[in-house]
Amino acid sequence: MTTITFTDLRTALFKLGLSHTPVIAHASLKSFGEVVGGADAVLRALLDSVWALVMPTFTYATMVTPQVGPPNNGIRYGSEQDLNRMAEPFSRDMPADKQMGIIPETLRLHPRARRSIHPIQSFAGIYAEKFLAAQTMLEPLGPIRALAEAEGWALLLGVDHTVNTSIHYAEVLAGRRTFTRWAVIADRIVECPGFPGDSAGFDAITPYVAGITRRVKAGSAYVQAMPLRGLIQIVTERIKADPLALLCNRPDCMRCNAVRDSVAADVANGSQVQVPQ
Ligand SMILES: [Zn+2]
Repeated sequence: MTTITFTDLRTALFKLGLSHTPVIAHASLKSFGEVVGGADAVLRALLDSVWALVMPTFTYATMVTPQVGPPNNGIRYGSEQDLNRMAEPFSRDMPADKQMGIIPETLRLHPRARRSIHPIQSFAGIYAEKFLAAQTMLEPLGPIRALAEAEGWALLLGVDHTVNTSIHYAEVLAGRRTFTRWAVIADRIVECPGFPGDSAGFDAITPYVAGITRRVKAGSAYVQAMPLRGLIQIVTERIKADPLALLCNRPDCMRCNAVRDSVAADVANGSQVQVPQ
């Protein structure tokens, strides 16, 4: 197995040329091989290589499924009663979901880190207050908009586009439907609009963004970096050209099927997908 140190990581990440750039990162610790110093070493190398760092610290354990709700919402109402009983109220010190990996959680616990307070889709960051502040309940992906406006980049460390949250922001811009979900907070259940679709099909964007992607190898991991503005433009154009682009192929995927249904309804109504200005 490859062993990699903090210095190796920093040397590799520095080659991306992002030291004056705010970044949203997604990472898999085990993709690097054996990292001396673990997630802390990866985080320190990242912080040394970028200007501001944001990572998703999503918390799916807060989610509840009601008995009834809006139609065509990519959800089976009344189906998750056991999970509802286990749902935990969101608090600012709730750990990031395990499926986010250990690195976002290490960032969240960093003494200089701040975290936004969306009950499902929170982000943590360092030197990133203005990006985190761009999140509202109506615009859960506001931090990605703010990062794009600041010429930020997306960084994929040993992971592919299936975890690239910024593609969800481009889906919204392209007019693709989002979903409503519900989460428990201290004293009540809150409605969370703008919940994104499924990302399992996102890696199909790889050839389209090859021309704007910088790649380095760190240990056994491939690291990819791309400017958010370019990524968002390419994804939006892709969805405008093919409204079913980047959906997954799982026949039982409720959110991808809901997108297909809404595209079919748009076609039946003769309406074009509109791109918000
Ligand atoms: Zn899907």
